[in-house]
Amino acid sequence: MSLKITDECINCDVCEPVCPNKAIFQGIEIYEIDPALCTECVGHFDQPQCQQVCPVDCIPLDPDHAESDAQLRVKYQRLVNADGPLKT
Ligand code: SF4
Ligand code: SF4
Repeated sequence: MSLKITDECINCDVCEPVCPNKAIFQGIEIYEIDPALCTECVGHFDQPQCQQVCPVDCIPLDPDHAESDAQLRVKYQRLVNADGPLKT
């Protein structure tokens, strides 16, 4: 499933550049995650990179966007293909 940023976010800017899918963006008040782009970092890293760097621990899983690991891998492949040819 996607992750989400709660209103405890302090707009510290550190999560946005570490997202391999460019899923994090500055919203109206706080940073937000596009659930169509977040793969929990599946395909890129073992752990969600945004969670690793957030100093206030405000990036939980979003149960409104539940996905299995297999679905996340398909999503990752689709995002990679959208960016260019698959690397083997
Ligand atoms: Fe980006 Fe990974 Fe965080 Fe999802 S879990 S928003 S893909 S850094
Ligand atoms: Fe907000 Fe955490 Fe991202 Fe900083 S790292 S902008 S506190 S969500």
